[in-house]
Amino acid sequence: MECKLAVSMMHDYLDDDLPGSQQRELKEHLLSCPDCRAKFKELEQTDLLLFSMMHHTPSASDDLMGKIMGALPPAKKEKRFLAWIKSHPAVTAASFFLLVMLMSTLTFRNQDNQLVVKGNDLDQVVIQGDTVIVPNGTKIAGDLTVENGKTRVYGEVNGNLTVIDGSLYKASTAQISGQVKSIDQTVSWIWYKLTHLFPDAVYR
Ligand SMILES: [Zn+2]
Repeated sequence: MECKLAVSMMHDYLDDDLPGSQQRELKEHLLSCPDCRAKFKELEQTDLLLFSMMHHTPSASDDLMGKIMGALPPAKKEKRFLAWIKSHPAVTAASFFLLVMLMSTLTFRNQDNQLVVKGNDLDQVVIQGDTVIVPNGTKIAGDLTVENGKTRVYGEVNGNLTVIDGSLYKASTAQISGQVKSIDQTVSWIWYKLTHLFPDAVYR
C-alpha cells in the first residue's frame, strides 16, 4: 500500500469511517512502515485532543468555542475546520495550547468592564452611567469609539462610529457619515488569532 493511501485511511479510521477489511490493510501497513506509524500516533493524539475539547464538561469556554465556530465562515465550517486541524497535527497541538491560554486570559480581560469613550468631539456627548448618548440636534465632528457601554445615537456623527463590547441603538433621526462597526472584542480577538495561526484553514 502507498503511504498516501494509508494516511487517508488513517483519517477515515479516526472518523470511524473505515470498513473492517480496510482496517486490516491499514494495520498491516502500519506494522511494516515506521513513518506511517509515527504519523498515525500524531493523528491519534490530535484526535484525542479535539475530542476532549469538544466533549469536556460544560464551562464558560464552551460558549466561547461556540462563538468561535459561529464566527467561522458558514458552509460546513466546523467539519472543514476540524478536518484541516486533523491534517496539521504538529501545528495544532501547540496552537491549541496557545488558544486555551488565550481563553483564560480573555476571561480575565472581560471582567474589566470600564466604559471607555474616545473621540475628538466629546463635549457634545452625554454620558449617563454606562450609556453614551449623542443627543438629537448635536453634531459630532470626527470618529467616536465606545467600549464597554451602551451607545444611543439620536444626532449626527460625522465620522466612523465603533462600538466595542457593547450595544448600539440608532434612532431614526441618527445620521452617521462614516462606517458603523460593532465589535465583540473577545470573538474578534480570537478570530484574529485564529486567522493568523491557521491562515489556510480560513482563507482557502
Ligand atoms: Zn507508509
